[in-house]
Amino acid sequence: MSDEDALHLSLVEKTIGENLARVRARIRAAALAAGRRAEDVTLVAVSKTQGEDAVRAALAAGQLHFGENRVQEAAEKFATLKAARPELCLHLIGGLQTNKARLAVRLADVIESLDRPRLADALADAMAREGRTPRLLVEVNVGGEAQKSGVPQAEADHFIAASQERFGAALVGLMCVPPVNDDPTPHFAWLAACAARHGLSKLSMGMSADFETAIAYGATHVRIGTAIFGSRPLGPRGAGRQ
Ligand SMILES: *Cc1c(COP(=O)(O)O)cnc(C)c1O
Repeated sequence: MSDEDALHLSLVEKTIGENLARVRARIRAAALAAGRRAEDVTLVAVSKTQGEDAVRAALAAGQLHFGENRVQEAAEKFATLKAARPELCLHLIGGLQTNKARLAVRLADVIESLDRPRLADALADAMAREGRTPRLLVEVNVGGEAQKSGVPQAEADHFIAASQERFGAALVGLMCVPPVNDDPTPHFAWLAACAARHGLSKLSMGMSADFETAIAYGATHVRIGTAIFGSRPLGPRGAGRQ
């Protein structure tokens, strides 16, 4: 490694470490303000489009939960890292194609985007074949946006109940990505009430722009990318929302 590369790496590490510390402090403050314990909110560092250097820097700063939205990219980035650091916990947070179910089950510790019966079939089949059971969250399309993944709100109760029957305790909670320009508050409140109806304890909601609000509404997992790693390149891979 050249001196210049080494300097660049140590700067990346420093920046990401500082960003993480800042985000953790904000999570703690938001939890305390909501009368909750900071330990009850898990920070998932969303490393999509970021290189392995960035992930290593976050790991060096003690970050263990990571989120990726594409299975192939996650496999390329995390297969080696996970073998070296078994305590690393990988969350898949993007819309999942059924033909990627097998790889997803092999790789992920948490799949946050269960959103349709055909995917449930594919995941159940993959779990049987792989002998591995990642935890699952049902994603709800709270804004009813055509381009986004997630089960439609009107079908959510039925789909969640069916998924609980099928996956039992592996189904741990719900996830949502509210529309970019909406006030997220009613969406977070709706998701929390829906999880409570089904006795589900995990709520993955809140991103860089709105995680404090999500924590006030009961988020147990916040998925944060840009506030930790800086902005992503523009374009479909960096757009952040599917
Ligand atoms: C990209 C992404 C995030 C992180 O978004 P930031 O605004 O960068 O914090 C969270 N959740 C999902 C599903 C994403 O795709």
